[in-house]
Amino acid sequence: MINKNELLANLGVPAEAPGACTGKWLPTTGEIQTSINPNNGHVLAKLHGCTRAEYDAVVEKAKARFLEWRMRPAPKRGELVRRLGELLRHHKESLGELVSLEMGKIRAEGLGEVQEMIDVCELAVGLSRQLHGLTIASERPNHRMIEQWHPLGPVGIVTAFNFPIAVWAWNAALAAVCGDTCVWKPSPRTPLCSLAVQTLCNRAMDEHDAAGVFSLATGGADVGGWMADDPRFPLVSFTGSIEVGRTVATRVAQRLGRSLLELGGNNAIIVLDDADVDLVVRAVTFGSVGTAGQRCTTTRRLFLQRKIAPQVIERLIRAFGSVSMGDPLDPRTLVGPLVGPASVARYASAIEAAKSQGGKVLCGGKVLDRPGYFVEPTLIQATTHDAFPIAWEETFAPILYVFLVDDLEGAIAAQNAVPQGLSSAIFTDSVRASERFLSAAGSDCGIANVNLGTSGAEIGGAFGGEKDTGGGRESGSDSWKTYMRRQTCTINGGKDLPLAQGVEFV
Ligand code: NAD
Repeated sequence: MINKNELLANLGVPAEAPGACTGKWLPTTGEIQTSINPNNGHVLAKLHGCTRAEYDAVVEKAKARFLEWRMRPAPKRGELVRRLGELLRHHKESLGELVSLEMGKIRAEGLGEVQEMIDVCELAVGLSRQLHGLTIASERPNHRMIEQWHPLGPVGIVTAFNFPIAVWAWNAALAAVCGDTCVWKPSPRTPLCSLAVQTLCNRAMDEHDAAGVFSLATGGADVGGWMADDPRFPLVSFTGSIEVGRTVATRVAQRLGRSLLELGGNNAIIVLDDADVDLVVRAVTFGSVGTAGQRCTTTRRLFLQRKIAPQVIERLIRAFGSVSMGDPLDPRTLVGPLVGPASVARYASAIEAAKSQGGKVLCGGKVLDRPGYFVEPTLIQATTHDAFPIAWEETFAPILYVFLVDDLEGAIAAQNAVPQGLSSAIFTDSVRASERFLSAAGSDCGIANVNLGTSGAEIGGAFGGEKDTGGGRESGSDSWKTYMRRQTCTINGGKDLPLAQGVEFV
C-alpha cells in the first residue's frame, strides 16, 4: 500500500512544508488548498496558499536572482538543469507515484510524466550550448548585422491539474537555461506534487548557488491573477482551460506583457477505409480513455469513413468495455478516476446533452457506484457534426463521439470546424490522403499525426495548438525563443557613416 507520508519522506519534502519557496521555505497564511485523493475522496493534505504580501516576497527574490543569473554563461546555467534532471531520475518512482496519488492518473503515466521532465531537462542542457542567433548581410559597406538572444526576466508559470508537474518542467527547464528565473503557481488541486518538485529544485539550487531561479507561490485564481497583472513578469506561461486562459491573456495584454498559452483541445482522429484497424483501435482507445480522458490531447471526436466504420466501432466497444478501472496505483489498472466531483458532474451532463442531441450511447455512460470519482469510458454514436454541439466543446472526461463521413475532404472540414486547434491524426495507407491532411488545406491544428493517435507528444517537437488553444509552443524545436528577447545589432567597422536606404543627411 503506497503511503503519502512515505512518498514525501522519500522525496525529502519537509514535514509541514508551507506553500511558498525561493530555495528557502517561506510561511504562507493565505487561502487553504485541499489535496484530495481522487481514488477515494479522502483528504491527503491541507495547505495555505500565498497572501499578496507572501507572493510579493517570492517575486522579489526571483527578480533579484535574475540580475545575477542572466549574466551566468548559459552552459553554466545548464549545469543546474542537468542536476535537476539527475535528481528527477533518482526520485522518478516516488514522484511518479505521488502524481498518481494526488491527480489520479495510473502509475505508468505518473512515471511517464516524470520521464518527460527528465527528457526536457536533457533537451535544455543541450540547448544551453546552442542559444544561437543569426548573422545578417548589411546593405552598408563595412557593416555587419547580428541577431542575438538575451534573457527576458522572471517568468510566471501557471499550470493545470492534469499534468501537475511536467508542464512546469517544459517551461522551467528551458527558461532557466535561457537565463530567466521562474515563479510557479501550480494547480490548487495538486499542491503536494509541487512541494515535492520544489524540494528537488532546492537541492539543485543549493549545490549551484542559485536560490531564486526556481520558486513556488501556491494558491488559487487570485495568485494566478496577480501574476497576469504583474509587470515584473515579462512573460506569463499559462496552461489551463480556454475560459481562464482568455482572461489571463487579456490581463497580460492590458499591460503589454507576453503570454504563452496552452489551452483546451478538442482533438479528432480521421480513419479512412484503407486504414490499419489494429493500429486504429489501439490509438483511439489510448487516446480517448487513457488518463480517464483528462489530457489536453485526448481524442474526443472520431471520423470514420463509412466502409470501415462497422468493424472499428465493434472493436472499440469491446476495447472500451474491457479496460480495467480502479486504483491508479494498482499495476493492473488502465483507467483511474476523474479528478473530482465537478468533473463527474460535467461527464454526466455531457452524456445527457449528447442524448438530447440525438446521440446513441454505444457503451459506457455511467458513473460508478463506488468511492472516488470513477466513470465508464463512453462511446457515443453522434449524428452529423453540425447538429451535435456537445462535440464542439471539450468535456474533460473519457467520452468519444463517433461520426460517419463520406470522404477525406468532409472529414477535414468537420475536424477543423471547432474553435480549438490542438492535436489531430489520420489513419490511412494512402500517401496522397496523408499528404492532403498535412497540407495547408488539411488539419489546422498545432499537431498533425499520420498513423498514430492524438496524445503522447515527444518533447523534441514544439508542443501547442492554434485558435482557441492559444497559439503557444513549448518544449522542443525553437520554443526556447519565447523565453528570450531578441536583439538586432548593427556594427560599423569602417570610417564612414553611410545611412540605411541610401539617405543623405549632413
Ligand atoms: P483551469 O483553467 O481551471 O486552471 C488552470 C490554472 O489556472 C490553475 O492553476 C488555476 O488555479 C489557475 N486559475 C484559475 N482561475 C484563474 C484566474 N482567473 N487567473 C489566473 N489563474 C487562474 O484548468 P484545469 O482544470 O486545471 O486544467 C484542465 C484544462 O487545462 C483543460 O482545458 C486542458 O485542456 C487544459 N490543458 C491544456 C494543456 C495544453 O498544453 N494545451 C495542457 C494541460 C491542460
